Amino acid sequence: MTSINTEHRAVALPTKLLSIIVPVFNERAVLPILLEHLRPILRQLELRTEIVFVDDGSEDGSAEFIRGEILKDSSLRLGRLSRNFGKEAALTAGIELARGHAIVILDADLQDPPELIPDMVARWQAGADVVLMQRRSRSGESGFKRFCAYGFYRILNRACRGTIPVDTGDFRLMSRKAVDALLTLEERNRYMKGLFAWVGLPTAVIEYDRAPRSAGVSKWDTFGLFGLALEALTSFSIMPLRWTAGIGLTAAIAGALFGLWIVAKALILGNVTAGYPSLIAIITFLGGMQLLGIGIVGEYVGKTYLESKRRPVYILRDIVEQSGPADRSINTFHEASRYVEAG
Ligand code: UDP
Ligand code: MG
Repeated sequence: MTSINTEHRAVALPTKLLSIIVPVFNERAVLPILLEHLRPILRQLELRTEIVFVDDGSEDGSAEFIRGEILKDSSLRLGRLSRNFGKEAALTAGIELARGHAIVILDADLQDPPELIPDMVARWQAGADVVLMQRRSRSGESGFKRFCAYGFYRILNRACRGTIPVDTGDFRLMSRKAVDALLTLEERNRYMKGLFAWVGLPTAVIEYDRAPRSAGVSKWDTFGLFGLALEALTSFSIMPLRWTAGIGLTAAIAGALFGLWIVAKALILGNVTAGYPSLIAIITFLGGMQLLGIGIVGEYVGKTYLESKRRPVYILRDIVEQSGPADRSINTFHEASRYVEAG
């Protein structure tokens, strides 16, 4: 079978390679629309490009669709994870598989407009190692989700002393320098936005309006997002421990003052035995505070336990690509069995 490669150019090929990383979990409905949008935009760039899909255990034929496309287009590649590991793991896999001089992370559902990629590339070529995309609006998301996102990013920002920029998602460009720095972080709890921010390096910010999903449904429900928020807070900050200590201290001082007041009152007015309701109230309040405190400490102990097992972030099932094995050895945690499609 002959490969239909439309990327041939008569002039010398540009030497820099840009990798677009797309995590995919049951996105069969949007993938054709994504490719249709993305291809003309990438063709405009004075760069060689590759699109690295990471199939995060899709069960709707997404991987099969991408395989079919790879047969026709050598600039597409696919890494398949052994099961659904979550977006953070899929991104880690994509970043490790990418060979580009710069990478762009893009959601499959077109919520991150590919039209902005040329702008991002321009900022990178002007010297930025990281180009952050900051959301100006979130159309198509419920008022509740917007409210939670608003509150969450601000609490997180406080807890991490401003290192995680507000209202930015995973949609961003990173230079090879930033990517290599990111790959040195070996923790298993991967809250990518936090890891990205930790790397630092010269950063440019582009504002954009976030579009609604073009097809399919969001993989996040409220519980999932709450979990991610908790994960984010406890992975990147020990501030919740301090906040708990602060609340505990405040409650203790209030309790002591209240006790003094009761003693004083008893001395002045004689022995008053009433006070059952206030007693119950205080016991319940302190009991609750203690459980909350233990819960928060437990969250950190649990994290330490999970990290100590040093399990890999994901397992690669195979890599599907037209050309032979990579020219550059891939920096994966696990040696992947390579699956090479005949071109
Ligand atoms: N995704 C993934 N693994 C998951 C959940 C999501 O790879 O377990 C991908 C999904 O295919 C999409 C991106 O992550 O490309 C963002 O997911 P989604 O649109 O569901 O999240 P939202 O935009 O609502 O935050
Ligand atoms: Mg989305």
